[in-house]
Amino acid sequence: MSSTHTTSCIAKSTRGSVQRWSQTLIPTVRQAPSDAEMPSHVFMIRAGFIRQVGAGVYNYLPLAWRSLRKVSEIIREEMDAAGASELLMPAFQPMELYAGTKRDIDYGDLLFTLEDRHGRKLALGPTHEEVITDLMCGALTSYKQFPLNLYQIQTKFRDEFRPRAGLLRGREFIMKDAYSFHLDLDGDAGLNATYDKMHRAYTNIFTRCGLDFSAVEAEAGPIGGSASHEFMVNCEAGEDTILVCQESGYAANVEKAEIGERAWSFEVAADSELVKHHTPNMPGIHSVAEHLSTTPSGMLKSIVLRTTEESPRWVIAVVRGDHEVNESKVRDAIGCSVELADEGEAKAAGFVIGYVSPRVCSSIDLLLVVDPDALAGASWATGADEPDHHVTGFNWSRDMGDAIRGGKIQVADIRNAQGGDPSPRVAGSVLQERKGIEVGHIFKLGTKYSEAIGLDVLNKDQKKQSVIMGCYGIGVSRTLAACVEMSHDDNGIIWPAAIAPFHVHLVVIKPNEPEVQEAVSAMSDELAGHGIDVFIDDRAERPGPKFKDADLIGLPIRLTISPKTIEQGEVEFKLRSDDARGVGHPREAIVQMCLDALAP
Ligand code: ATP
Ligand code: MG
Repeated sequence: MSSTHTTSCIAKSTRGSVQRWSQTLIPTVRQAPSDAEMPSHVFMIRAGFIRQVGAGVYNYLPLAWRSLRKVSEIIREEMDAAGASELLMPAFQPMELYAGTKRDIDYGDLLFTLEDRHGRKLALGPTHEEVITDLMCGALTSYKQFPLNLYQIQTKFRDEFRPRAGLLRGREFIMKDAYSFHLDLDGDAGLNATYDKMHRAYTNIFTRCGLDFSAVEAEAGPIGGSASHEFMVNCEAGEDTILVCQESGYAANVEKAEIGERAWSFEVAADSELVKHHTPNMPGIHSVAEHLSTTPSGMLKSIVLRTTEESPRWVIAVVRGDHEVNESKVRDAIGCSVELADEGEAKAAGFVIGYVSPRVCSSIDLLLVVDPDALAGASWATGADEPDHHVTGFNWSRDMGDAIRGGKIQVADIRNAQGGDPSPRVAGSVLQERKGIEVGHIFKLGTKYSEAIGLDVLNKDQKKQSVIMGCYGIGVSRTLAACVEMSHDDNGIIWPAAIAPFHVHLVVIKPNEPEVQEAVSAMSDELAGHGIDVFIDDRAERPGPKFKDADLIGLPIRLTISPKTIEQGEVEFKLRSDDARGVGHPREAIVQMCLDALAP
C-alpha cells in the first residue's frame, strides 16, 4: 500500500492562529553543523526548528513544536476514532519490572539506567510494555473489560549507539505507543480485529501527514510475538531496506522478506580438484576472493550458530559469500531460536573461526543448514577448517557425499532477500529493493508480557487465562523528520499542509508603515477567521533575506504585502511547491485562493 494523498488540514470551526516572527524564536542559520548530512537534519537546524543539546538530544523550538503538535493531534484523532483511549505513564521505570521479561538483557546498552539516592535501580522508558502490563495486573479483573486499547504520546529514551540525522534517530525522542488487551485472537473483541483497526488507523495517520509510505511485513524483533508490520516512508535516504513484489503487492523488510522458489541440486558434478591455499592475514571475504582469483559469489560463507535451547546444539548456516545469513529464517527452518556462537566457545569445540567450511560436519556433531543458492555451482572456494587456509574446487556431491546420503543437510531459505530475487508470491516475477524510514510499527505480542509479569484474568468460563496483547508505536518526532526527507528542495523544506507549523507565511515589506500594518492585520485576521494559521514575518529586514527564509521554513503559501501591493489593491501569492515567482492578485480573491490551495 502506498499513498500520496492529503486531506484538508483546515479546521473551519476553529480560528486559525496568528503569530509574528518578532514574538517568537526562530534562530535561522546560514550553515548547518558539519555533522549534519541528511536534508531533514540540515534544514530543521538551518530553518530554526531544532537546536542540539547533546548527542541525539534536541530542543524542539516553537516551529517544530507546532508541527509536532499537529502530528500528535492527527494521531489522537485517529487513535480515538479507532476506540483507543489516551493516558500518560511515567518515563521512570523501576528495574524490578524487567525481572520477569528480561528485556533489560535484550535491550542491553540501549537501555538508559540510573540509580536513585537509596540505591534503587531505574530505567528511562525505551517503551512501556512492562509498566502497562504491571498496571493491568491490578486493573483488569473481569472478562467484561475486554478489549481495551490504551495509548500515550510521550518522550522515550534509548542510548542509541550512533544517534544520527537530527530527529531521525535520537536518544530522547517522542513516541506514540499503544497497548491492547484481549482474551481471544479472533472475533470482535480479539487481538486480530484491533490489530487490523490499528493498521487502518496508521494508514489514515500517515496519509493525513502527507507521507508517501508502504506498510511492510516485519520481524517482531526484541519485542517478540507472532506478527508485525512496519510503516515505512518511501525515501532513498532511509536506513531500512524493503523488498517489494510489484505484481502481488507483497512488501516486507529485509529481515522478513521471503524468497521464492530457487532450483537446487546436490548432484552437480565436480569440474575441478579440491586445492588448499595459504591465505594468512586477509581480513574479509573480498581480499580472500581476490587472492583465490574468484569473487564473493564464488565462495561459501559458513556461519557458526548456537541454538538457545536448554542444551544448546551447534548449527552451521551456509550461504553464498555475497549473501547474509538471516537468523530468524534459520530459526524457522530448524524450529529453534539461534544466536551467533560465542567465539571462545566455538574455538574450544574445534571450529576454526574464519576458516569454517561445510566439511566440518564430519568432525563435529552439528546441524548443517544450506541456502539453495549455495548449492547452485560445481566448484566453490571456502574455508579449509585449518588456520590461515582456504580451499578452492569444493564440490557438494563429491566432498559431502556421506553427509548428503546420511540426510544430514537441510536446504532452506536462510538468507536475507535482495533486489532481483524471485518473488515469493508470483512465479516469474522478482523482488525490487527500496529504501525507507520506519515511522510506525505494529506488533501482535501474544502472551509474552502477560505470562512474564503474571497478568491473567478469569474468562467467561471462570478459567484463569493469560491476557493476549498487541502493541503499536509511532515515532512522532521521526515522522516530522521523515516528512522533511521526503519533501524539500535546494532552498529548504516544503511542508505538507496538514503538519506545517503554519499554513501561510505573510512577508511584510516596510512593516513600520501604518497602512502596511493595517493591511497585514486585516489580512491575517480574515485568514484566521477561516481556520488558516498565519505566520507574519514582521522583521525590519530587506525583502531578499525574508523570501529566502520563507523558502527555508517552507510553509505551503507565501503572501507578500508591501506599500506597492496595497496601492494596487493586491496581495502577492506564491505556493512553496511552485517554482514560479509570486504574482499579485486582487486582495478580495486571496482568502479563497488560500483555501483552495490548502484543500485536498
Ligand atoms: P529502529 O529499528 O529504527 O531502531 P525500532 O524498531 O527499534 O526502531 P520500535 O521499538 O519499533 O523502534 O519503536 C516504535 C517507533 O519509534 C519506530 O517505528 C520509530 O518510528 C520510532 N523510533 C524508534 N527509535 C527511535 C529513535 N532512536 N529516534 C526516533 N524515533 C525512534
Ligand atoms: Mg520497529
